[in-house]
Amino acid sequence: MGSLGAYVEMDTDGEANGLEYECLLFDMDDTLYPLSLGLNLACRKNIEEFMLHHLHIEESQVPRMCLELYREYGTTMAGLKALGYEFDDDEFHAFAHGRLPYEKLKPDAVLRNLLLSIPQRKIIFTNADKVHAAEVLKRLGLEDCFEGVICYETLNPPVETANFKDTSDNDAVLAGGEAKLNDLNDADRIRPLILCKPSLEAFEAAIRIANVDPKRTIFFDDSARNIASGKAAGLHTVIVGSSVLVPGADHALSSIHNIREAIPQIIWEGEREQQEQIIQSTAVATVVLA
Ligand SMILES: [Mg+2]
Repeated sequence: MGSLGAYVEMDTDGEANGLEYECLLFDMDDTLYPLSLGLNLACRKNIEEFMLHHLHIEESQVPRMCLELYREYGTTMAGLKALGYEFDDDEFHAFAHGRLPYEKLKPDAVLRNLLLSIPQRKIIFTNADKVHAAEVLKRLGLEDCFEGVICYETLNPPVETANFKDTSDNDAVLAGGEAKLNDLNDADRIRPLILCKPSLEAFEAAIRIANVDPKRTIFFDDSARNIASGKAAGLHTVIVGSSVLVPGADHALSSIHNIREAIPQIIWEGEREQQEQIIQSTAVATVVLA
């Protein structure tokens, strides 16, 4: 794809005409690899350290505040910004992700083959920044399995580059998304400083940028609150890393590896029906001609 940046390339070759669902939208962290690898915990520790050493927040307050802001604002970073803390986004992301135990992520040939066998468009939708997304996908050996990545920078473009762009190049989809986000800025409405899951606006923006029909899009995420918002945005939803359904989930997968066993009918079987229809219509035509 060559576009592990903050944009989605249109790839009409990947269109799966005739299928019930046209696109699969995947969360990345703890969805494409298991929570048990410990990256999530290590990331939280890094963020707590940033709050302590860079923002000089009282040590005894840091763990509680880190969690509460995450719950309230979608990410701790979004919460810190909302409280008025000023820091550089890239510096924060580098600190949060710079020392993660990435070596725990190994190439996942099973998931790779599974993804490559899926006929629909496949897009990542993550709150993480593009550097982390690129690193994770590279380590998992999945960097060429997705049409694009909708990440932190996609939904929160730097102010100086968030102007309208020439839409004739490969950035067309992103530019369209930015234009719409700018419209939101101009509107008389209160929106969080940072756009991220689980806010409904983040889902609506991702749906616009990916240019998908939410009713024909399947959304995979390990977070129950993201699943609830995804459902509110009109998506078909799959909770990953759970054997039981959560509110708003249409399906539950204990592992992303179980897609083929758990939900084959919504991904592959529409294709088969389409082929059967073609065969049938050919047969009918033959009868009529005879
Ligand atoms: Mg996740």
